[in-house]
Amino acid sequence: MRHHDDVVNASLRLESTYATAFPALAHPWSADPNPAPHAIVINNELAAELSLDAEWLASPDGMAALTGVAAIPGSMPVALAYAGHQFGSYSPRLGDGRALLLGELIDSTGRRLDLHLKGSGRTPFARGGDGRAALGPMLREHLIGEAMHALGIRTTRSLGVIATGESVRRETLLPGAILVRVAASHLRVGTFQYAAALGDRELLSALARYAIERHHPHAADDVCPPLALFAEVVKAQAELIAEWLLVGFIHGVMNTDNMTISGETIDYGPCAFMEAVDPLTVFSSIDEGGRYAFGRQPSIGQWNLARLAEAMLPLFDDDANRAGEVATEVLGTFGPTFSRHWHVGMRRRLGLVEHRDGDEVLAEDLIALMNAQHLDLISTMRSLSGHLRGDTVDLGSWTERWESRVTAEGRELATVAAEMDLVNPFVVPRNLAVQHALDTAVAGDLSSFQRLTHELADPYTRRDGVDDLALPGPAAPGFRTFCGT
Ligand code: AMP
Ligand code: MG
Repeated sequence: MRHHDDVVNASLRLESTYATAFPALAHPWSADPNPAPHAIVINNELAAELSLDAEWLASPDGMAALTGVAAIPGSMPVALAYAGHQFGSYSPRLGDGRALLLGELIDSTGRRLDLHLKGSGRTPFARGGDGRAALGPMLREHLIGEAMHALGIRTTRSLGVIATGESVRRETLLPGAILVRVAASHLRVGTFQYAAALGDRELLSALARYAIERHHPHAADDVCPPLALFAEVVKAQAELIAEWLLVGFIHGVMNTDNMTISGETIDYGPCAFMEAVDPLTVFSSIDEGGRYAFGRQPSIGQWNLARLAEAMLPLFDDDANRAGEVATEVLGTFGPTFSRHWHVGMRRRLGLVEHRDGDEVLAEDLIALMNAQHLDLISTMRSLSGHLRGDTVDLGSWTERWESRVTAEGRELATVAAEMDLVNPFVVPRNLAVQHALDTAVAGDLSSFQRLTHELADPYTRRDGVDDLALPGPAAPGFRTFCGT
């Protein structure tokens, strides 16, 4: 391992509060050296937010720092320990098998953020894995994650993807890469499951305090801060999953180790955007039972949060029965919170500012209609503002119901239409376009990938030349996304 303290410029300094406070949950480890690292993509916008010099990041010294092979001041690289329910079955020891937390950086607004690598080599948690990541899936995480961010959906970010210069063996030999991820933190439901299984109540309690301080500081003022933390996580996740459903996002692997305490979307594997509306839509090749189908995401979210409650139970009350009761009560807020958030989102998307009786049914009927007619969610929603400007839409009598509801508010229709266009995306990552961009990027031509990255950063502006992102692809039954790990 190459260590030279002079390579890192003063702008990159890290802290290691988590690694220091939780040695039982963070295994000190170092990244593998790479033969010829070079940046495939650097996120200049995010670098600026983090007060990092993007040009320096892409330089050889920057590459050495970002791939974990050169020491960064304040950094104590660790592989994180966590457990998790994967497709419903419990694994007591997952952890970062191919990832490292380099440390925490403080952004320009004073927020503490994790700087994390994926694909940096085998760790003690690697089990049978090779510790590596292939370029395609890391570019997918970059592309989709940044698209989610542009849509205003809470997510981890990608600071960039670095080709390692090494090949990784999957079904074939593929170029290897490291994703440099920035997150509010990497605390997951699975982190609490792991801590709970250690049977050390003080550790669990300290973990809850740490999560409160970092993510949900108001919970500290509650009579029972751990329970208030749980309630905040339930709220954050219910709202997050409502946001997913509003844009047709399917995470694909909602295991408890892929669900954050912060409420950010994390771990873009076989994720995809639904085109024809159908709650049973599944793209992931590994989700044979459809456990993580589009419309099952709310109930799976709640199921995962029940696992979090189980892990945190000893912190809720010394009396186990009482702890179970209060946890159940809080868990029960998931459904109403999800539903409220989804309906508020739909109302805005339908151009309504008031809340009237019948709005919920109006929104639900539209989804049912799209489902029955196999309509694309995004372009159908977007077409509604066009209808207010005189275009025809093919939604039968629903259209008149909606129109009279909009008219009842007495607002100028041009204004309503303009406001709708600020919340109904014009472009989203369409499956065929994404696949094409990734395939060509892996083959060495980055032009499509760069174009998509650029276009998806502006989801709401109507423009020409982006049909591949604005419109659903040709019906591709059996289209599958692969975890690609
Ligand atoms: P993921 O599906 O990316 O959320 O990963 C699930 C678990 O498998 C985590 O513990 C990962 O660290 C581990 N894992 C995935 N791929 C690899 C790999 N190639 N080498 C080692 N561990 C891996
Ligand atoms: Mg994961």
